[in-house]
Amino acid sequence: MQFVENKQLEKRVAKQTTLLLNQVKHEQEKNELATEEKVTKKANLVEVSYPPSEIPSIDGFDFDQITQESMKKMEKKLNPKDPAVLVSHLAINHYTEQLAAYEVAVDLYLWQNKSEEFIKTKTKTTKPVLINHSTGQLITSQDLIKKEENLLGIQQVIQQMLLDQAADPNLILDEVLNLPRLSWDTPMTYTEEQLVVQLPQNKLGQTTIALPYAKIQPFIQTDLVKPEYLIPPTQALDANQKYVALTFDDGPSPVTTPKIIQILANKGIKATFFLLGQNVKENPELTKQIFEGGHELASHSYSHPSFNTISKEAVKKEVIDTDKAIFEATGCLPKILRPPYGAVNTDTAKVVGKPIIQWNVDSLDWKTKNSAAIQKVVKNSVASGGIILMHDIQPATAEALDQVINDLKAQNYQFVTIQELLEQKMYPMHQYFGQFDQRNI
Ligand SMILES: [Zn+2]
Repeated sequence: MQFVENKQLEKRVAKQTTLLLNQVKHEQEKNELATEEKVTKKANLVEVSYPPSEIPSIDGFDFDQITQESMKKMEKKLNPKDPAVLVSHLAINHYTEQLAAYEVAVDLYLWQNKSEEFIKTKTKTTKPVLINHSTGQLITSQDLIKKEENLLGIQQVIQQMLLDQAADPNLILDEVLNLPRLSWDTPMTYTEEQLVVQLPQNKLGQTTIALPYAKIQPFIQTDLVKPEYLIPPTQALDANQKYVALTFDDGPSPVTTPKIIQILANKGIKATFFLLGQNVKENPELTKQIFEGGHELASHSYSHPSFNTISKEAVKKEVIDTDKAIFEATGCLPKILRPPYGAVNTDTAKVVGKPIIQWNVDSLDWKTKNSAAIQKVVKNSVASGGIILMHDIQPATAEALDQVINDLKAQNYQFVTIQELLEQKMYPMHQYFGQFDQRNI
């Protein structure tokens, strides 16, 4: 009688297998990708796989191979006497509109003697392979970074990170500032949490750096990154408020700059100082004092030449020497630069590699050297989102500043630094004349 019973059981298993396969197939038809069905029967085990029929080939992702390996591992743990069904399919997980993860999931259905049906008891999922949904391929550095200006921006982030990570940053400062530029040929590896960049040939003894996406967020296509690895957008400036940024060039000067920062401190205002490297070198303590006052420190070249009249090598030296002087005084590299006389062209902007900050209100303090005239010109020419140009080396500016601020306050202006005014959306190869006026170079 044993024989008959087994036959009957076999029939019931076969019937349930058919039901299960129909159900699985039905589920599979809902998948966004077209698939084929492959069924293999070995004694008590049925293996079903749904290789996608349309996806382009992706490096390091072979559905059939992954399926075979996974199934083999799961098969080993099964009792050959128990009826079982293994189903392998491609699971697509959308993290953003552009970012999808492909993973192979293998489900194990085991025969239940009591209820006489198959129950899913286990799912084994392989490591997700992240795909650019637009191309259907692995994400490349060019997909992620897109523009050369972003490569330049990332270069600056890397330089500051290398210095932050160093036991003694001063020992590597020259190497870091002279680090060759990243290019589209620079090997970079996209991973879920960070971008791993192979550093260009250098004497630092460091070959790669891992960049968390939040650190390079302004310079990447954020819809190619899982949202959990990004910083949520910060509170934007209030569209109903009027903002201005006070900027001071050519300092620091031991005579007039202390007066200026005292007035700013009294008024509770943060400004942006475009420093000359040679003056920083002579006044490192004063530079540190400006920095510690919460002001933004920026580069205005080392010795104030017009960038359009000197060689690219000379421009590079002006930038690097100033970065070095400011870093030695404060531990921070300046992120932005105002070229002397506002003189910049495509070639020099590329050499500079930082966002270029111009102005749209010229106090003419360098020309009039007269407190009343400075007050008048600022009061009359300011507009919302303005960047006001002044010079902290001018005694008349120190004299005028208190009243300049009072006049702006009377017109309901709020005072912000350049970073705040432009909400950190500043890119190399671009110049900014005000909150609402940015131009390509
Ligand atoms: Zn200047």
